[in-house]
Amino acid sequence: MIILDIQNVSKTYQSTGRTLTVLDNINFSVESGTTMSIVGPSGSGKTTLLGLCAGLDRSSTGSIQLHNVKLDDLSEDQRAQVRNQYVGFIFQNFQLMPTLTALENVMVPMELRGERKIKPIAMDLLEKVGLADRAHHYPAQLSGGEQQRVSLARAFSNKPRILFADEPTGSLDAETSEKVIDLIFGLNKEAGTTLVLVTHDNDLASKTKRIIRIKGGKIVADEPQAPTLKGEESQH
Ligand code: ADP
Repeated sequence: MIILDIQNVSKTYQSTGRTLTVLDNINFSVESGTTMSIVGPSGSGKTTLLGLCAGLDRSSTGSIQLHNVKLDDLSEDQRAQVRNQYVGFIFQNFQLMPTLTALENVMVPMELRGERKIKPIAMDLLEKVGLADRAHHYPAQLSGGEQQRVSLARAFSNKPRILFADEPTGSLDAETSEKVIDLIFGLNKEAGTTLVLVTHDNDLASKTKRIIRIKGGKIVADEPQAPTLKGEESQH
């Protein structure tokens, strides 16, 4: 099954009377349950592309289908609903709500969906990422790695069919990166969640089954590759 289908997608911005083309006729589709990375130089359009795929922003032309829902003609609210239902998103700078505790941050998506008895579920998620003892801390009282793990717990809270992560290890030290990577790939293994990662980190990219390279807003390579996950035999 195809979980994400991108057809002829472009994104342009108007800036001082000129049209800036940030993404130029992008085409690819993603099989449900797979893992892939989007890599490329800074400014090549990776973050913009991830935002379009996740329904955070709208493309200028072309069509994006996420879990069989065509995002192009949906309103902001409708796109937010699709995100709440199927999508997890991890940002490089975590984007936690500063006025909410770790526990409350994890509860937000479940509250938005009108779910009940969410506190114990949020506690379980924090425990899963090793942060049960930080539940009542505010983001400012947590290290970068801890904040990223809270944002992972929040992303996991809606059991996403697809997880988009923008430089998930970009601001973390090596040891914390490894923990975060294990958690992300654990979600793929245990729940079959499709992973779409934007990364500068070649090690992280090499753990995914497919790498799309973009440059100047265009796809320049789309490479399947053997997974080299820790403890896994590489498959040729
Ligand atoms: P990457 O993630 O590969 O570093 P981005 O997707 O963040 O690249 O940005 C691609 C290009 O789009 C950059 O040149 C950036 O300046 C431009 N860009 C991104 N957002 C906007 C915006 N809202 N208005 C104008 N230009 C933008």
